[in-house]
Amino acid sequence: MSMLELTAKQLRDEIAAGRIKSADAVTEVFTRIEIYDPTVGAYITTFKEDALRSAHAVDAKIAAGHSVGSLAGVPIAVKDNLCMRTGPTTCASKILANFHSPYDAHVIEKLTDADAVILGKTNLDEFAMGSSTENSGLKQTVNPWDITRVPGGSSGGSAAAIAARLCWAALGSDTGGSIRQPASFCGVTGLKPTYGRVSRYGLVAYGSSLDQIGPLTRDVADTALLMNVIAGHDPRDSTSVSEDRAPAPDFLAGLEKPIQGLKIAIVPHLNEGVDAQVADAITAALRIYKDMGAELIEVRMPHFDYAIACYYVIATAEASSNLARYDGVHYGHRTDHADDYVHVYSRSRAEGFGDEVKRRIMLGTYALSSGYYDAYYLKALKVRNLIRQDFTRAFEQADCLIMPVSPTTAFKIGEKTADPLQMYLADVYTIAANLAGVPGISIPCGFDKAGLPIGLQILSGPFTEDRLLRIARMYEKQTDWHTRQPPL
Ligand code: GLN
Repeated sequence: MSMLELTAKQLRDEIAAGRIKSADAVTEVFTRIEIYDPTVGAYITTFKEDALRSAHAVDAKIAAGHSVGSLAGVPIAVKDNLCMRTGPTTCASKILANFHSPYDAHVIEKLTDADAVILGKTNLDEFAMGSSTENSGLKQTVNPWDITRVPGGSSGGSAAAIAARLCWAALGSDTGGSIRQPASFCGVTGLKPTYGRVSRYGLVAYGSSLDQIGPLTRDVADTALLMNVIAGHDPRDSTSVSEDRAPAPDFLAGLEKPIQGLKIAIVPHLNEGVDAQVADAITAALRIYKDMGAELIEVRMPHFDYAIACYYVIATAEASSNLARYDGVHYGHRTDHADDYVHVYSRSRAEGFGDEVKRRIMLGTYALSSGYYDAYYLKALKVRNLIRQDFTRAFEQADCLIMPVSPTTAFKIGEKTADPLQMYLADVYTIAANLAGVPGISIPCGFDKAGLPIGLQILSGPFTEDRLLRIARMYEKQTDWHTRQPPL
């Protein structure tokens, strides 16, 4: 078996035991990146020399018999909205194309401390705004399962890199579905942790009350492995949960232990509008849980349908404020055509931001403007609270909720770009979890007739990722969807 077939955890074990050299893994994966990434387009930047240097350092530590971190020598990709001192941090935006971060994000420090090797930065929708990675201002990423289709978004580069075996694990960020939806479109595993579980320090802010960093991996155990590294309190993010309120558990420790008397909730009205093949795959997955002894119950989530409307007020409002800092002075691109300082601001922003980002800044500024604040923003916050209560009630009755990740499988490149509302609808099932702050995972649960992956979404209560991963693992053990590979 080629080392490219190993999971991150298996590769880590081989490297730590000295049977595989991290430097060989890096060389092997770069050969593959050089062959396939011109087609896939997963990476914006790669750091071959730096990666080889880190890999050699890990190999030397192992050869000397020193102890190594839990990701010893494993090559990992990170979404390019995570600040990193090495290389530019672009957010796939022209406005940040030449921005070099003076510091590393918390999660980058954690990966480095765990002896991971960072291969490069992956493509995304500009500032993580989108559902297909087509809003990238820098390049196109395609779906490795069908290169005429989108990889999903906004963490499309990370998801495509995992599916195409251009890394062993990756990090993404999820504001309204950006880890789970591309994971589903590319047939990989993706977890959005509870809001507050992973420090957002050094994640370029989009919707600060919604953003969470999380892993994209080949299987559930790899997600647990990465969570062990990135979860936990960080005083530099005031929303990161304290160790006494929700200590980060060992996510790998009990992973193989099935949940006794598992109770799964489904929300019947959510099945309207789902593609029939997606619905069938979800039903089949529920049958597998039932065969393992799980009990299925139906719950009502009366406010779920308002999630998209509510999200696009809150997310755009926060984005309009967060993106005010790109003024041509503090960061990134500055116009060459300014006569005065007002022009420096307005022209730098006009030249630097893409259409979708501009659309959201306008929407958010409008929703926050005096006279409209109460009617839109405050109203959305109230609806958000009702959605949160829907989840609380559901989790009082069941251990988890199961639903699709996305109503369809990966759509064609260009299919939805002309109609932003259609694009927004790609996230009907993922957005509510961000509004409520609860964790959600997407795991592969089948393929449609065109051979495109389908994702199963499992959601659970705040700070119960360890249980969520065990539930996901119960299903994964019964199936082999997660082992399938695209025909590149
Ligand atoms: N598609 C959603 C948006 O465009 C979610 C993106 C994300 O999770 N970053 O806002």
